[in-house]
Amino acid sequence: MLNLAERMSKLGTESAFDVLVRARALEAQGRDVVHLEIGEPDFDTPEHIVEAGVEALRSGQTHYTPTAGIPELRGAIATEISRTRGVSVGPEHVVVTPGGKPIMFFVILALAGPGDEVIYPDPGFPIYESVISFAGATPVPLRLREENAFGFDPDELAALVTERTKLVIINSPHNPTGGIISTAALDELARLAVERGFMVMSDEIYSRMLYEGSHESVITRPGMLDQTIILDGFSKTYAMTGWRLGFGVMPEPMAQAVTRLAVNCNSCVPGFTQLAGVAALTGPQEPVERMVAEFRRRRDDVVAGLNDIPGVSCLTPAGAFYVFPNVSQHGDSAEIADRLLQEGGVALLNGGAFGRGGDGYLRLSYANSLENLEKALTRIRETLVGA
Ligand code: PLP
Repeated sequence: MLNLAERMSKLGTESAFDVLVRARALEAQGRDVVHLEIGEPDFDTPEHIVEAGVEALRSGQTHYTPTAGIPELRGAIATEISRTRGVSVGPEHVVVTPGGKPIMFFVILALAGPGDEVIYPDPGFPIYESVISFAGATPVPLRLREENAFGFDPDELAALVTERTKLVIINSPHNPTGGIISTAALDELARLAVERGFMVMSDEIYSRMLYEGSHESVITRPGMLDQTIILDGFSKTYAMTGWRLGFGVMPEPMAQAVTRLAVNCNSCVPGFTQLAGVAALTGPQEPVERMVAEFRRRRDDVVAGLNDIPGVSCLTPAGAFYVFPNVSQHGDSAEIADRLLQEGGVALLNGGAFGRGGDGYLRLSYANSLENLEKALTRIRETLVGA
């Protein structure tokens, strides 16, 4: 009998992949399912990026590369982050990983262990809590509330910080709610971090998917260059989820620790993938702008459609490509999500899969065509309130 290590019992999962499997099983039985569960752009990777990858493959970029990333890509990332965040970082601050997710894993493992506390958003990306527990540290949820437009309350954060707090994780624009963190809340977080000496991992993977205002990073606050790890990547911005290309920007000693974890795990990221990443950062940005404009149209359509369903209310999110409607008037959100898949043929996620703070909500990814979104809205209405 298989006898797994004890630590495996602490590892959670990402329910989007489970729901996808269940939806595919229904489709295999001939059912029609609208997919609003998985968080990936329904756009193709822009042509010039694909070409750069193909050319790199043809020219022999098929061998091991330096663990922290090839100099061209680390340099391009440092330039991009310096420009967009208004700080000065160099290639030595950058670690390239297969997707942004390993940055989470490596940073949490490098910083937190038994006896340490890590504050994370609830609702939030489920991997944060999972990896905090796996590392043996104590996960401390920071509630994000609908009445705060799913930002956090700085007083609530201050009340959670103890002398054991090693790391605070934030995510703006936010998965699963699409909310963003206010300037005042970022200021207060930075003030607390400097005063109490904890690190901040700022998950900015949706920073380019913003419909109001401009992206703000905690790294720009006084003292925070030494205490911030930015997580970002190519999956969402350039529709490159399957390429597996992400990165972290962090203080140099932290970059060395993360690189050591990476050499023990994935060794490196393929050279042809990284050269495609260079093309993404240095090439034309119109494809990103077009995609974001299309997401905005869909967001407005979906929010209006959801608010039109009796007993459903939905804020207009400022970023990412998710909406997080409140369906508590219709009962338990886990059962509703289940019913919508089984009876309605709409695959979406129970908000509770993102933490207790998500109970009563559903998460819909609107990275799907307007036509399919309309179909999903009709089905949701029929399932919840009848025709
Ligand atoms: N962070 C958040 C909040 C996400 O939603 C995701 C993907 O869904 C990631 C990070 C990781 O993306 P990837 O590993 O594809 O770069």
